[in-house]
Amino acid sequence: MENYYDVAIIGAGPAGATFARELYVRRPSMRILLIDGQTDQNAKPCGGLLSPDAQKVLAEFELTLPNAVLADPQIFSVHTIDLGASITRLYQRHYLNMDRLCFDRWLLSLVPDSVQIASGRCTKIRRENGFVLHVQTKDGEHTYRAHALVGADGASSIVRRQFFREQPYKYVSVQQWFRGSDPCIPAYACIFDPKTSDSCSWLIRKDDCTIFGGAFAKSHSRAAFEAQKARLEEHLGVRLGKPIKTEACQVCSPRRMRDFVTGKDGVYLVGEAAGLISASSFEGISSAMLSGRMLAEAFTKKDVARAYRKATRRLRCKLYGKTFKRSILCSPALRALIMKSGVQSVKIYQRGDKI
Ligand SMILES: Cc1cc2nc3c(=O)[nH]c(=O)nc-3n(C[C@H](O)[C@H](O)[C@H](O)COP(=O)(O)OP(=O)(O)OC[C@H]3O[C@@H](n4cnc5c(N)ncnc54)[C@H](O)[C@@H]3O)c2cc1C
Repeated sequence: MENYYDVAIIGAGPAGATFARELYVRRPSMRILLIDGQTDQNAKPCGGLLSPDAQKVLAEFELTLPNAVLADPQIFSVHTIDLGASITRLYQRHYLNMDRLCFDRWLLSLVPDSVQIASGRCTKIRRENGFVLHVQTKDGEHTYRAHALVGADGASSIVRRQFFREQPYKYVSVQQWFRGSDPCIPAYACIFDPKTSDSCSWLIRKDDCTIFGGAFAKSHSRAAFEAQKARLEEHLGVRLGKPIKTEACQVCSPRRMRDFVTGKDGVYLVGEAAGLISASSFEGISSAMLSGRMLAEAFTKKDVARAYRKATRRLRCKLYGKTFKRSILCSPALRALIMKSGVQSVKIYQRGDKI
């Protein structure tokens, strides 16, 4: 029974780490296994912006964020650039700029010691009196057994693939890191370019680096990324230079209510594995932490699947609403109309302007 657990969680991102911590608080006698494959070398590509929704979730946990997690500078606005229509507008934003890997490590540090952590990748799962999991670690393959299984393993979830309908709508997110920052490059920009993507991209200053990333169709993601980078450089009149790091991963873009899958029959999904991410902005940290807490609470109920589905209803409806926002923002005509109107934009005061 040494390798037997009541619950095995695959993935210790914001969803998995939160679920493990919150489950321990509610069911301290449970044997919990948390399997995670994240290392310095394969850290999650992310913009690392903590939205007001995510800040609210941290507040609800009564958590305060260590300074060491923050990145420089803190930002108050986003330059929204439409490369197709050649319009730029400034909008106020209330994000915290942070180092995503540090954030994940900090959340993991809050998981109680009684939760067993296995560093490695789960490569195979089968149902057999519960679940049998094969995990590849640096010292070979290990096998674990668990009564219940939680997929907190992000957009390319092995748990979702194996037990449920795959996420039908996904982009490939490509992101590059550049040393330094040019004064002509905004500290934070959101870029739309219908020529290269029907989604959005971002430019964020992060300590002594600048990151440029975006979401692109799977079939030609790298070529589209390079074409958009060249068009952006031309628009800004500055070259980003030689990248010091290029990273890529899948990112979900839910379109229908049924794209959110919460799980059943002893297998549950949290965070992006469940499809819980904003289709309009790709903000997913808040939904990941929130769903982690909701599933932990559902584990105190008799019918876990039902309780969890019910608890996430409001969140799923809210994220479904974001699919409509996405349709508007990603429609070149509607976006141009909104941006030209200047609604909710911030005026930049130049010398001599009337105040
Ligand atoms: C490029 C990009 C930029 C983004 N920027 C932002 C942003 O600025 N702000 C924001 O709020 N959201 C952002 N998002 C979305 C956000 O990153 C995700 O929604 C959020 O991380 C989801 O959390 P999660 O815990 O569900 O999954 P993840 O954070 O993806 O964590 C999954 C974990 O599971 C592990 N794992 C996966 N498969 C296995 C396996 N087989 N075995 C073991 N471990 C496994 C991974 O190593 C990882 O640690 C961005 C997404 C992308 C792709």
